[in-house]
Amino acid sequence: AKETGTTRVVEYFPELQRRMMETVRFENDIREAIRNDGVEVHYQPIIEAHTGRPIGFEALVRMRHPERGLIPPADFIGIAEETGLIGDLSRIVLKKATRQLAAWKREFPSLNGLTVAINLSPSQFDDPAIIDQIAKALEKSGLSGDDIKIEVTESMLMENTSQTVTIMEDMKDRGIRICIDDFGTGYSSFSHLRNHAFDTLKIDRSFIMRITEDKRDAELVRTILQLGQNIGMNIIVEGVETKDQRTLLSDLGAHHMQGFLFGKPLPAKAISDWLSDWVP
Ligand code: C2E
Ligand code: CA
Ligand code: CA
Ligand code: CA
Repeated sequence: AKETGTTRVVEYFPELQRRMMETVRFENDIREAIRNDGVEVHYQPIIEAHTGRPIGFEALVRMRHPERGLIPPADFIGIAEETGLIGDLSRIVLKKATRQLAAWKREFPSLNGLTVAINLSPSQFDDPAIIDQIAKALEKSGLSGDDIKIEVTESMLMENTSQTVTIMEDMKDRGIRICIDDFGTGYSSFSHLRNHAFDTLKIDRSFIMRITEDKRDAELVRTILQLGQNIGMNIIVEGVETKDQRTLLSDLGAHHMQGFLFGKPLPAKAISDWLSDWVP
C-alpha cells in the first residue's frame, strides 16, 4: 500500500514520543546525578609499552543511577550536550580528576610525570568559560597545566572557529597539552596535524581491532606512527586488547598504549591498589 505523509507521522509518532520522553527522563537523571554526587570518574591507565609503566590515566565519566546502577557515557553525554548540562558535568570531572591525580602524585612520587587526560565535547570550545573552569581546578588541586591533557575528537576540529582557536592557544600557553582523540576517523585528519596546538594523537581503536590479521591496517598504523613521530607528536595507540597486538604494535614503533590488555577504566580506589603493586 502506498504510504501517505499522514500515516507515516502516525506510525512514527510513538517512536518519536518515546524518544522525547527518554530525553526528558535522562535529562532529569543527569540533573539528579549532578546534585547528589552521582557523577563518577573512572580511570584507565596509559602505559609505556616496553616497561609496562603507567605514564598517566584517561578520566572517563559515568553516572550513578539509584535504580539502574552505573550508566556509561554513551548513554548520556549526547543528552548532556543537547541540554547544556555538559558544562556542569565537565566541571565535576575536572575537579575530581585533578584532585585524584594530585593525590596519586603525593602517594606515588616515584612515578614521576603522571598525567590525567580529560575529554571535552566540541561545544565546550565555543565558550571561554572552560578556561576558567580548568584554571580553577588546577588551582584547587595544586596541579600545573602540564599535569593535565585535554582530549578532543576530530569532529570538534571541523568547526575551527576563531573562538576554538583562541581557547586552544590559551590552553597551550598554560602548558596544557591537547590530544586529538580517535585519530583517523574524521574527515580531515591530516590537516589537523598542521595545528601546533596539538601535542598528542590517539590512533583510534578501529585501526587496531584487526591489526594482526589485516596487513593493510598494520601498514596504516606504521605510517601514522612514523608521520606523527616525524613532526614531533606523541602518539598513543588505543584499544589494545591482546598480547599479539601489543607485540606487533611495538614492532611497528608504538611506545604508548591504552587498552583492556593493560587495564579497564576503574574507580580511583582500584587504581590506587594497582599503583601500589607497581611501585617498589
Ligand atoms: P573515548 O574518549 O574514545 O574513550 C575510550 C573508550 O574506549 C572508553 O569507553 C573506554 O572504556 C573504551 N576502551 C578503552 N580501551 C578499550 C579496549 O581495549 N577495548 C574496547 N573495546 N574499548 C576500550 P567509555 O568509558 O564508555 O567512553 C566512551 C566515550 O564517552 C569516550 O570515548 C568519550 O568520547 C566519551 N566520554 C567519556 N568521558 C567523558 C567526559 O568526561 N566528557 C566528555 N565530553 N566525553 C566523555
Ligand atoms: Ca578520549
Ligand atoms: Ca578515543
Ligand atoms: Ca571514541
